[in-house]
Amino acid sequence: MKCECGGRAVYYRRYEGRGWCKSCFVSSIERKFRHTVSKNRLIQKGDRIAVAVSGGKDSLSMLHLLSGIRGFDMVAFSIDEGIGGYRPKGIGCAAELARGLGIEHHVYSYKKELGFEIDALQDILGQVKHCTYCGVFRRYLLNMKARELGASKLAVGHNLDDEAQSIMMNFVRGDSMRFARLGASPGVSANVKFVPRIKPMRDIPEREVAAYAILKGIEFAGDECPHSFDNVRRDMQSLLNDFELKYPGTKQQIVSFYDRLKASLPVPEGSVQECVECGEPSSGRTCKACELLSGIRKRPDQSS
Ligand code: SF4
Ligand code: ZN
Repeated sequence: MKCECGGRAVYYRRYEGRGWCKSCFVSSIERKFRHTVSKNRLIQKGDRIAVAVSGGKDSLSMLHLLSGIRGFDMVAFSIDEGIGGYRPKGIGCAAELARGLGIEHHVYSYKKELGFEIDALQDILGQVKHCTYCGVFRRYLLNMKARELGASKLAVGHNLDDEAQSIMMNFVRGDSMRFARLGASPGVSANVKFVPRIKPMRDIPEREVAAYAILKGIEFAGDECPHSFDNVRRDMQSLLNDFELKYPGTKQQIVSFYDRLKASLPVPEGSVQECVECGEPSSGRTCKACELLSGIRKRPDQSS
C-alpha cells in the first residue's frame, strides 16, 4: 500500500480509508496536536505547564510533542501509586525521556504522601475496587503537586479514546455535572488552589498515539495495571472498540458531537471551597480524598 506522497505506507487509517508513510503520518500527528492546542487556546505565552507523565505512550508522546512548542515553561512529574511490577517501569521511562529532553522531572508516591500503597488496599480494607480509590487520590495529588511546582496549568495525556469513554461513561451514569465539564480544557474553578487541566492529546486516537511513539522511538511502558479488571472504563473501552471496528470513526464522532453539544450546555454550577481537613479544593466540606482516607486510617493497623 502507498501513501498519497508515493512512499511506502506504514499505517492504515480505517476511518479515512488510506495508508500513510512514516514521515507523513508523524507530521499529521504533530499537526493535529498543534491544532488542538491552538484551537482550544490551551497554552498561553508565559504559562508554566506541569506535565503528568505516567510512563505510558500517551503521556510520553505528549511530553515529546509539547517539547516541540516554544513560548512556555515546562516541568514533568509522575505519581507512583505503589503498584508493584507495573508503575516502576513507567516512571523509569518517564525519567529517561525527560532527561533526554532536558526537562525537570519529579516523582511523588502514595506511600510518602498518603501513607500507603494501592497494592496494600486489599489487606487494609478487604474486598476493594482499587480504581475507585486510586483515581481519586491521583487527581488529588496531581492538582496539589502541580500547584506546588508553580504550574499555571496541568497537562494530562488523555487521548481520543479516553475522551470518548469519559463522555459515554458520564452519559450512561446520568452525571450531567461531570458530563458538562469534559473537553480539551475543562477547567472549572475560580479557586486559586485549583490548577486548570489541559488535554492536548484528546483528538488523537489511542492506536495512533502508540504508532507515533513507536515510529519516534519513544520508549514507553506498555503493561496493563493488574487492578484494571474491575474498572468500568475498561468495559466502555471494549464496547467502543467493537463499535469502532464495525463503524470506523465512531470515537471521533462521539467527541465532535460532544464538542458541538457543549456550546449549548449550561456552565456547571457549584461552588468550590476548601476542604476542612486538608485545605485542598473541594465541592463539599470535606474533599473526596479525605473522605476515603478517613475510612482507610480508621483501620487498626493504619493508625500509626
Ligand atoms: Fe489505579 Fe485503577 Fe489505573 Fe490501576 S487501573 S492505575 S488501580 S486507576
Ligand atoms: Zn481534603
